[in-house]
Amino acid sequence: MKFIRTIKPAESESPLGHLVRLTEANRLRSPLELLRQAQPYPRNRILAGLIDMDSLATANGVATEDFGDPFAPFRRGGSRVSAKMTALCNVLVPNCAVKGIEESEFCAACVGESGLISAAWHLSNYTCCPRHGTTGEVQCTSCGKSATWIRPGLLTCSCGGSLASRSVRSPAESEMYVCDLIDRAFSSRAKIQKIAGFPSELGDLSLADLLVTVRFLGPASLS
Ligand SMILES: [Zn+2]
Ligand SMILES: [Zn+2]
Repeated sequence: MKFIRTIKPAESESPLGHLVRLTEANRLRSPLELLRQAQPYPRNRILAGLIDMDSLATANGVATEDFGDPFAPFRRGGSRVSAKMTALCNVLVPNCAVKGIEESEFCAACVGESGLISAAWHLSNYTCCPRHGTTGEVQCTSCGKSATWIRPGLLTCSCGGSLASRSVRSPAESEMYVCDLIDRAFSSRAKIQKIAGFPSELGDLSLADLLVTVRFLGPASLS
C-alpha cells in the first residue's frame, strides 16, 4: 500500500527525521503507525533491523534502488559497507561514529527554517549546530520530556506539545568550527575559510578521516 502523501528524502536528511516528516505529512500519530501502513511491524520501538526497506520505499513511491538502505548505519552487522565503515546518506562514516537509533538530537531552529533534520546529528562528534549554537537537546514545552522519535511531527511531542531546543551549555568556538566542517563535508557545500589557530588541512579531509581525527584529538584540543 502507498502512503497518502509521499516525500522523497532530501540529501543529507536524517533517515529518522524523514520518517517523522512523512508521519507529519500523513497526519499520523507516530512513525510506528506509518511503518504499519507499509508492512507488518510488531514492536513499539523503532528498530532498524525490523524496517523492511522495500516496503517502505514502495509505500513512499520511491524506487527501491533510489531509496537504498538508509537505516544501514543503525543495524549491527547487516548491509554495512565494511566492518569499520557505513554509509549515512551516501557519505562514508566510521561505524563507531554513529550514535544509537533512539537518540533524538537536533536543532529546533534549523527545523523551523528548513523543515528537515540533518543526518549529521546521528554522528557522535556532531555536538552542536554551528549556525544556532544549540547542543541537540530538545524538550517538550508542555510535558517537559526529552524528544523521542515516536512523535507526530518534527517539532511536535507525542503529548501534542511543542518541542524546543534546550541549551544546557554554550559550545566552544573550536566545537562550532568542527561541527561546521562536518556539516559541510556532509552536504558537499563549499569549504569555509580557515580560522586562526586551526590546521587548514582539517577542511580538506574526507568526513570519515575528519571524524577519526576529531575523535582522536577531541575538538577542545584543536583550539
Ligand atoms: Zn541550527
Ligand atoms: Zn510533551
